[in-house]
Amino acid sequence: MRTATPQPGGFLLQFIHFSGRSANLRDMDQTLELANFRGNDEPCLVEAALACRACLSSDVEWSLLVDDFEGQVECRCRSCDYRRMVSLTSEQTLRLSLQPA
Ligand SMILES: [Zn+2]
Repeated sequence: MRTATPQPGGFLLQFIHFSGRSANLRDMDQTLELANFRGNDEPCLVEAALACRACLSSDVEWSLLVDDFEGQVECRCRSCDYRRMVSLTSEQTLRLSLQPA
């Protein structure tokens, strides 16, 4: 189901580097990103993992969508309104369910 490039992180960074247009950034929403925090990380690290990819603001509003096995979190930047979906492992889903939004 996931059609990630071999190095999704590098791809996203390059994409932002070469394109500052928000229209293009919104197209990235089709690429599901995997969150990069651990279940026992500090709240600030979890926030950093969900920070806006477009303007790097950590002022992000998010809502958790829990599946049977894992989850996703929908993030919306309060600064630039950039939205994206981030895929979560079951551990990360549990972690976010305990994190105040
Ligand atoms: Zn932003």
